[in-house]
Amino acid sequence: MRASKYYIVTAKEAPSEAELISHKLMLRAGLIKRLSSGIYTWLPMGLKIVRKIERVVREEMNAIGSMEMLMPAVQPAEIWQESGRWEFYGKELLRMKDRHERDFCLGPTHEEVVTDTIRKDVKSYKQLPLSVYQIQTKFRDEVRPRFGVMRAREFVMKDAYSFHADYDSLVVHYNQMYQAYCNVFNRLGLKFRPVAADTGSIGGTGSHEFQVLADSGEDIVVYSDECDYAANLELAESLPSRSERPQSKASMLKVATPTQKTCEEVTEMLGVDLATSVKSLVFLGVDNKPVLLLIRGDDTLNEIKAGKLKQLKEPLEFASQEMIKEAFNCQPGFIGPVGFDGVVIADREVGLLADFVCGANEDGYHLTGVNFGVDCKEPLIADIRNVREGDPTPDGKGKIKLCRGIEVGHVFQLRTKYSEAMNVTYLDQNGKSQLMEMGCYGIGVTRILGASIEQNNDESGIVFPLNMAPFELIITPANYNKSEVVRLEADRLYDKFKAAGIDVILDDRNERIGFLLADSELLGIPYRVVVGEKTLLEGKVELYNRKTRETELVELDMIVQNLV
Ligand code: ATP
Ligand code: MG
Ligand code: MG
Ligand code: MG
Repeated sequence: MRASKYYIVTAKEAPSEAELISHKLMLRAGLIKRLSSGIYTWLPMGLKIVRKIERVVREEMNAIGSMEMLMPAVQPAEIWQESGRWEFYGKELLRMKDRHERDFCLGPTHEEVVTDTIRKDVKSYKQLPLSVYQIQTKFRDEVRPRFGVMRAREFVMKDAYSFHADYDSLVVHYNQMYQAYCNVFNRLGLKFRPVAADTGSIGGTGSHEFQVLADSGEDIVVYSDECDYAANLELAESLPSRSERPQSKASMLKVATPTQKTCEEVTEMLGVDLATSVKSLVFLGVDNKPVLLLIRGDDTLNEIKAGKLKQLKEPLEFASQEMIKEAFNCQPGFIGPVGFDGVVIADREVGLLADFVCGANEDGYHLTGVNFGVDCKEPLIADIRNVREGDPTPDGKGKIKLCRGIEVGHVFQLRTKYSEAMNVTYLDQNGKSQLMEMGCYGIGVTRILGASIEQNNDESGIVFPLNMAPFELIITPANYNKSEVVRLEADRLYDKFKAAGIDVILDDRNERIGFLLADSELLGIPYRVVVGEKTLLEGKVELYNRKTRETELVELDMIVQNLV
């Protein structure tokens, strides 16, 4: 590839709306172009990287016998109604009607489609187990698209689905997937941890997330350096000191008694301006005395780490739904100017009492749901949010540490959730009809790119690991257009590298050398060969390593050998 003919659009500055370093660098490097909120065009250089990520994913999926297929992006409502998710999925599901007024959606995930396919084709135990995957564009109407491709509305996911005659077979494949995921993230050079996780709106039982460790992550990972324990803060395994507390729904409800607090009073109690600084509040009761855990914007983790549980001057009774609405001065269905992500009301002894979930759109923050005492799958959410660094792990073998994570992959044991809802059966050896066991496995292909840049950058730009880089090597000639010796040697090297199978770009643009070097730094290309008249006189070229930032002079005859 010659840079003069390639689509390269680098910029010194990133648009101001880009908050994260990865988002800024991807825009500056010209990997993506924003079309609309959470919707991006992949420019040639960006797409080239996505394809390299896909290649690693494909190789690992194929290696464990999963078969690639491709399902439609547009899905009919009927299958979603059958699974019960047409209602349950909420606003993240982008719905539309065709010319006959029939309902459709843009697929945010493909359990329904794949289940419908398999139930039509697989009838006998002899056809099981079966594992399929696709790499496909998903659409999720995220409440707050941000961070570029990391929380986009349109993004590329690898989603795999497996079908089994029994649970043992599911577990075997789940473990293969788990290992394949570790291989993918290791090969792509990511620092990550697999963690026990919530199953979210996908449903099912056993589940692990793969979290890339980065300060900018939206999740909080609870882990330990001394043992294998790792969990998502959203939902972790019960910790030993807390496992014996009562967890019945009845006892959770009992504690709720009404009391009144105005917004001003709450502001007064907390000593912070609710309107600007508090992102969410967690109410916890300790020894029957309420305490408040403040969670402020991006400081969430530090607050938790510091154990900043603020004891209230006066006791605050646990509140009813009406009372909380009163306390925060909100109209029914609306929470004022306060930037809440959610409010959790919890008691350390009995667990979760109520969980107000809020969402945002252009005209403000809205109460999107209230789980009040009832219907909380796990009271552990409150417990785990109360985890602090240094607490013992469940196995007692280590001490808890907290860090932020970016979820790049998620594996689920769905068991028979979809088979039951959508009647997916097979005939066993005795000719008896049985429900299939099912698993599903997702990787955020395009999110990986953002996550990788979060972990691999410096003041000059991106530092791509070799097998994710848009090019492995860049040849940067000094004065390509003016010096004939340089041009001849650069062209010759370019051909030699290509012949040696190296993914190389020749930067033959008619620009100053300083400009070219800065671009190659920004783009994060792992190796650079600088061809200049001065070193050529000694029969040498300069070889630069983007990661170590070391330069060495290498004999012209040796340079190709040096890199293959
Ligand atoms: P999150 O918690 O970040 O919203 P999720 O749990 O909703 O993600 P899954 O349903 O588990 O996502 O989907 C599988 C993978 O798809 C995720 O692990 C993530 O890497 C990726 N993914 C999910 N949502 C997005 C998004 N909005 N933009 C980019 N990638 C995404
Ligand atoms: Mg999500
Ligand atoms: Mg998640
Ligand atoms: Mg997930």
